[in-house]
Amino acid sequence: MTADLLITGISQLVTARGRGPKHGIAMRDLHITGDAIVAIQRSKILWTGDSKAWSGTASQTIDLGGRAVVPALIDPHTHAVWAGDRLADFDARTSGANYEDILRAGGGIRSTIAATVNASPESLIDQATPRIEAIVRSGAATIEVKSGYGFETAAELRMLEAVAELRQRTPARLLATLLIHIPPTQPEARSAYIVEVCESLIPEVARRQLASAVDIFVEQEAFHTHEAATILHCAQQHGLGIKLHSEQFQRIGGLELGIGMGALSVDHLEACAPAQLSLFVNRGTVATILPGVSLHLGIPAAPGRNLIDAGAAVAVGTDLNPGSSPLFSTAAALALAVRLNGLTAAEALIAGTVNAACALDLHDTGRLEPGLRADFLVLQSPDWRDLVYTLGANPVAEVWIAGNRVPNLTEPS
Ligand SMILES: [Zn+2]
Repeated sequence: MTADLLITGISQLVTARGRGPKHGIAMRDLHITGDAIVAIQRSKILWTGDSKAWSGTASQTIDLGGRAVVPALIDPHTHAVWAGDRLADFDARTSGANYEDILRAGGGIRSTIAATVNASPESLIDQATPRIEAIVRSGAATIEVKSGYGFETAAELRMLEAVAELRQRTPARLLATLLIHIPPTQPEARSAYIVEVCESLIPEVARRQLASAVDIFVEQEAFHTHEAATILHCAQQHGLGIKLHSEQFQRIGGLELGIGMGALSVDHLEACAPAQLSLFVNRGTVATILPGVSLHLGIPAAPGRNLIDAGAAVAVGTDLNPGSSPLFSTAAALALAVRLNGLTAAEALIAGTVNAACALDLHDTGRLEPGLRADFLVLQSPDWRDLVYTLGANPVAEVWIAGNRVPNLTEPS
């Protein structure tokens, strides 16, 4: 066996094994190899295992000197493209103002929509670039990025074009999702908006391959279940994956709809009821939880512990967005999932790697096995658990994406 590159001096090589999402107790099933080697051929993993079992040759060898290696993280839920900021909202809220006060003062999500709609494409890309860099520095090699602050068709397309353009600026793999975020304020305009989404926006996004999935916000104050069903059905007819923001504040049937339609993931779940936990059992739909929102808004955390105990496959994302989760670190999202959602360290790692990959319908990353992409992290520490233990410092020393080390990782730009 001949490798291009041999990574040696790995104190612990840590990974889940086997294709598909890990459910329930399988989320603790990590394989840890001491004194390990990873052999890389082009962009892929050629071999992994105990250093004493390696008998091949390599063109180049890098000795890590006794640090842990885990699969690169996957952030399955971000809104990393937006314009403007919500600092005044944050200041007002933490000074005692309620949501209605903030809306009256011109804040809230509609202020982000106004700023995003009015931003030039170049400005959207320039503002998103350092956010993507921060997420990569935190360990994510694959990042999902949603539209949803454009509202109107042209502005939604501009957001997705910005994601396409961002691919030129980062070594990370960016997956774009069309998010149908909020309905028109006038009730009588809702049905016309849904027709526009189904007859114009989704077909155009599919034709130009601007996104691989469609997401919809199902909530009393957003889209209702029958409206979501129409839009998600249209997405499926155009060959796009589907996912939902659901059960964040209320239960209006979004979770049942998503699982019934075979959604890749149902995300949020803070208001998930005990009777709903078992809906994820033996399903391909991943339960994606977003602890940054619970921390930032002070809302109850999703029942991550109970979901896993009931047999769900749980993933974790940052939900990076200006209003409810200004969390620029995928590693920190995992650290928060341990504290706020009751995951163990092993469950958090699986939630942020193989399960997050499955939430994006990716099966070539998220594990360290021969034939998969060589997407992995070198941690600062010899013990992989520092990844989810550390708060406020970056536990990630190196990010490797498709067999290449991301340069200048420690230099914020
Ligand atoms: Zn979100």
